Formats: sequence, C-alpha cells, structure tokens
Amino acid sequence: MDQYTDSQLIAMLINSPKERKKRLIEDFNQRFGLSADDIRDKKHPLHMSCPRCKTQGNESDAKGRYIVAYGYADPEKTQRRFHCKICKLHFNDHTNTIFHYKKLRKHILPFLQRMLDGVSIRNTATDLGVSPTTIHSWRQAVLQYIEKNMHLIQGELPSTGITETATREFKPSRKGLPTHQTIPKTTQTIQFHCDRQNHWRVSLTSANTLKSRKQMIQGETQVHVNETSATCRPTSPADRLLFHTRNVQRLDKQFSAMYRNMRGVAQPNLLRYALWQCLLVQLSRLNTKEKLSTLLSICL
Ligand SMILES: [Zn+2]
Repeated sequence: MDQYTDSQLIAMLINSPKERKKRLIEDFNQRFGLSADDIRDKKHPLHMSCPRCKTQGNESDAKGRYIVAYGYADPEKTQRRFHCKICKLHFNDHTNTIFHYKKLRKHILPFLQRMLDGVSIRNTATDLGVSPTTIHSWRQAVLQYIEKNMHLIQGELPSTGITETATREFKPSRKGLPTHQTIPKTTQTIQFHCDRQNHWRVSLTSANTLKSRKQMIQGETQVHVNETSATCRPTSPADRLLFHTRNVQRLDKQFSAMYRNMRGVAQPNLLRYALWQCLLVQLSRLNTKEKLSTLLSICL
C-alpha cells in the first residue's frame, strides 16, 4: 500500500465498492492509526489514571496500588483492561476516547480525515458506507472533545505586542435540537483573537438582549497593542503598516462562510465550530499524517 500517496489512498477508499472499501479502511488504519498501546502512552504521560475518579496509578494504601492491570478487554488479548479500586471502575485504553463503544471503530480515522477535508455528513456517510446518523453522532463527539480539550488548541496570547480581534454576533439557533432543550434567547457574540505568532483564542459571550439582525456586528475588527485597544493610528507611516487585522479577518471570514454553508449551527455548537475553525487554521501547515494525529490526540 505504500506505493500510494496519502491522498491517493483516500481517493481510492472513497471510490471503491463495498468489499474493497473494507480492505482500504484497514490500510488506512495501518498507515495513520494508533494502537491501544499508543493511545495509552498519549493519554497517560506519567501515570495511569482512572477516567472516572481520576485516581492516579502511583497512589496506594497498605493493600497495594489503587489502579491495577486486570486482564484483557478482548478475546484476542490486544486490549489491556484496568481496574480502579477506589470507584470500582473497569476500564480499557479506549474508555473516554472517541473509540469508546464504537462498533465501527475502524471507520473513525477515515471519518476524521473527511471532517478535516470539510466534507458534509451525507457525503462522508456515502464515502465510508456508514449511516448519516452515525456520522452525525461522531461529528458531535469530535466537537465535544474539541470543547473539552480547548486548552490543547488555543495558545496563550502574549500580553505584549500586537493582537488582532474580530467580533461577530449571531442569533441563537435551535437547528436540529430536540424541542425540550432550551437555548438562551440573547445575542451570541463570537470573538476571535490572534497574535502574530499564530496563537489563537476564541470566546463566546451572551448579551442581555436579542438584537435585530440588522443591528448585529458582522466581523468588526480591532487592533490591540499591549492589551489596550489601539484606537488612534500610529503617526509613523512605517508603523501604520503593522496595524492591520488581516490574519483575524481571514479566520472570521472562513468561519462565517462555514456558518452560511451549514445554514447556521445550533447554539451549543457555536463555540465548538469556532474552535474547529481555529484548529483548521493551525493544522493547515501540517501534512496529512500530522493533521490526523493531532486531531486524534484531541479526541483522546
Ligand atoms: Zn476510579
């Protein structure tokens, strides 16, 4: 399979009949996937910890360690199992990761690839031979991991130097939400911040009232110098060139284009999709393998 480039492999997978797809999905996992051992190394850099009560593998009492290895989770003995004596949980390397309880586990990696490529739920379902409902639930899972692990995506912005900010307001949407779920009926404000070293932050705030669509801010940008708003332009014509908001504008435009393409996103997903957009910008410099492995690490 190594005779094919990454993108050739993806193209073949998408265009193959069912049986061939299965084999290519295996190849895809071999090329890009993580073994249970790899996942464990990534998830527990120093000690095994309980996914429920967070007890650490080095903690113990007179009777011994609180976290113990406890056989295997599968008959082929590829998946180690663990037991937490504090909360009595049995867990394995897939617990609390995107692979948890997934029957179609092998399809997850190619699914992540399609999500990175910006392919719609319906088309991804066809490409991989999986139902759109499953793809939809996987996408929700990825977005939730992204929110949970947003500290891995966002860099700390330095307090000195120039930062750019873009502000855009949204009417909260109920798109696809069950009727019993309530959402705030107030203007939602997404702000992107970035510096000149490719660090990004996103914030979501809720106003007290709901503005009319006409009054809503649509991608207003601002420059901050040393964390204070730079309202007056510098007098030096040379310095003036630095007071631009090109980077944040690009991000804001990409996000609003995605929002339009999807015909809006439900309010609980607004921040998640904004984070997703930042992640895509960060990943854009990497190759296919690095992109996938970064996204995968976020979903562990
Ligand atoms: Zn526990």
